[in-house]
Amino acid sequence: MRKIIITLDGFSSCGKSTLARQLANELNYVFIDSGAMYRAITLYFLRHRIDWNHSEEVVKALKHITLDFQYNPSSGKSDMYLNHEDVEVPIREMPVSDNVSAVSAVREVREFAVAQQQLMGVKKGIVMDGRDIGTTVFPNAELKIFVVADPAIRVERRFKEMFEKNPKITIEEVKNNLESRDYIDSHREVSPLRKAEDAIELDNSNLSREEQLEVVLKWAQAKIL
Ligand code: C5P
Repeated sequence: MRKIIITLDGFSSCGKSTLARQLANELNYVFIDSGAMYRAITLYFLRHRIDWNHSEEVVKALKHITLDFQYNPSSGKSDMYLNHEDVEVPIREMPVSDNVSAVSAVREVREFAVAQQQLMGVKKGIVMDGRDIGTTVFPNAELKIFVVADPAIRVERRFKEMFEKNPKITIEEVKNNLESRDYIDSHREVSPLRKAEDAIELDNSNLSREEQLEVVLKWAQAKIL
């Protein structure tokens, strides 16, 4: 069976990562959450007080950043490692969520992350989710999916997820964060979020996890077989 590259792009909290992970499991492919990489870079910048509006400072800081994913047997998922430290928890917290879109709009940051993402796809057999995967990272991917969902449903899903970790979080905070990230991600100069011309749109507002997996598995199998 030939190996292909599958990309999933879309706005925040459309359920891309869950779907991409399940799809990769079914196909025995590698799953890469590209957003985790931008989140880890943001965490480094916050911890080291890097001013991401100064490109020299950014370029210097990036030289000290090593990113990799390591399988965590207790969760059955891959965790994001920043300079050999498991940062899976802090990268999902609000300080990072509030700044990640600004950091990932910086050209040098994108070049740094995209180069690593492209290397991960050299052998194909990969499912990667993000914002620019079908347009910039893998413009020749065999299957491109653009995930959309009703904004109110996205806020609700994200709130539930965040509430489990932080019961103090409010719906308003989650809504504002999603709206602001959506705006920055789709209006930035470098690789803005947009649907690739050859991407298939998947609206999962009213689909269960199983139903959406079934749909995309069919699309993938049609390309692979
Ligand atoms: O996917 P997730 O919501 O965790 O991504 C966090 C942020 O990282 C996004 O809001 C976006 O600003 C940035 N991102 C990006 N390009 C990607 C993946 C994520 O700019 N390919």
